Amino acid sequence: MIKGNLLYEGKAKTVFETDNPKELLIYFKDDATALNGEKHGIIEGKGVINNKLSEFFFKQLKDRGIKSHFVEKAGEREMIVKRLDMIKLEVVVRNIVAGSLVKRLGKEEGTPLTVPVVEYYYKSDELGDPMLNRYHIMALDLAKIDELNQMEHVAFSVNNILRELLKAKNVDLIDFKLEFGRFDGEVLLADEISPDNCRFWDTVTHEKLDKDRFRQDLGGVVEAYKEMLDRLTL
Ligand code: 5GP
Repeated sequence: MIKGNLLYEGKAKTVFETDNPKELLIYFKDDATALNGEKHGIIEGKGVINNKLSEFFFKQLKDRGIKSHFVEKAGEREMIVKRLDMIKLEVVVRNIVAGSLVKRLGKEEGTPLTVPVVEYYYKSDELGDPMLNRYHIMALDLAKIDELNQMEHVAFSVNNILRELLKAKNVDLIDFKLEFGRFDGEVLLADEISPDNCRFWDTVTHEKLDKDRFRQDLGGVVEAYKEMLDRLTL
């Protein structure tokens, strides 16, 4: 595999072409942003951990019938993925109130939701990723109804699978964000699954083991990412 032209430089990842037109190389960086890009920092070693955790989660999901863009890990910070036509949506699933839901619903952080909730956000930096409903998504032609149904089905399946996996490691899955893309007529799970885009709390102590430690200046950020990797893979 040859690392080709830089295709896209994101906040936490860089994407390169490869010698295979149907595959890309993702490079996981240590950079972290929060508050719509206003806060920036480096979490030393985060890229290595997120690459390993994403590989772990994508493999576990594949074993349970969930297809993703993941092809193989290709280095400490590199992952080979299928080249998708990305759908410009963030699909968020929530089990427990946290983050932006605290203000929106006026509920205390940590309040359980009686059923898991799915939300859609428009991936648009200039608009600040506004929340959309199914009608907005169809009106903007971001996805077709059957694609939306597929994404929602996969999102809830991922929720069930991850909750089970994490429960065995004394971790509660509070919420997470997924992204999807099209490949040969199919909708596949994309992006990464890591403490950058999930909220993980210790079941007993409710200690935060995710990017909220960076967002909220709680300290022990790398330690929390490392703790998640150790609990899941050691
Ligand atoms: P909230 O809407 O509460 O800020 O986020 C809900 C969940 O989606 C959290 O697990 C959060 O990490 C994830 N999430 C939401 N927006 C983004 C984003 O732009 N980037 C990343 N990495 N995760 C996000």
